[in-house]
Amino acid sequence: MNPEASKGTSLQNGAGAGAEAEAPCKKRPDYLEWPEYFMAVAFLSAQRSKDPNSQVGACIVNQENKIVGIGYNGMPNDCNDDLLPWARSSSDWLDTKYPYVCHAELNAIMNKNSADVKGCTMYVALFPCNECAKLIIQAGIKDVIYLSDKYHDKKEFTASRRLLDMAGILYKQFEPKRNKIVIDFNSIDGSKTHEHTAGPVAP
Ligand SMILES: [Zn+2]
Repeated sequence: MNPEASKGTSLQNGAGAGAEAEAPCKKRPDYLEWPEYFMAVAFLSAQRSKDPNSQVGACIVNQENKIVGIGYNGMPNDCNDDLLPWARSSSDWLDTKYPYVCHAELNAIMNKNSADVKGCTMYVALFPCNECAKLIIQAGIKDVIYLSDKYHDKKEFTASRRLLDMAGILYKQFEPKRNKIVIDFNSIDGSKTHEHTAGPVAP
């Protein structure tokens, strides 16, 4: 019902002289918009990562705004992440994490719950490296929304942009409207005052 109509009705019903009309109950204004929701899902997923230095998450979304894949960086399935190294540097490359770890983008693609991810959008915390760019291209993902581009000048990322540009995959930096989204398990019990308190009647 439109709010003007309901106001008219309450006046006609003789709510009493001086009685304030009930404020129309409008939708909550501070809900998460789709892009921040998907980026937040990527960041939440990253909290599953065992990497002590870098936690990255990715979230793949189809054209109906449905999530079809989520992943975070970690060691391959059935490979013991207590035995494999997590170091960023070592005299022997085999003692670093790099030969072993699966990036979030790879895991999100491999974890897909749809037949394929063609035409989908990937939300990812970090701009994809060249290896992930190859996977993104071969999987048919059409665009990438990333948050950080902190390794922009490293060669892997120059190569990544070269590949993504050639393949016509769009990439865009996500600009968050808020710096943090807090997940508060108490909110389900504690914040009811919010939704039940009637606001002042708009002039
Ligand atoms: Zn990568």
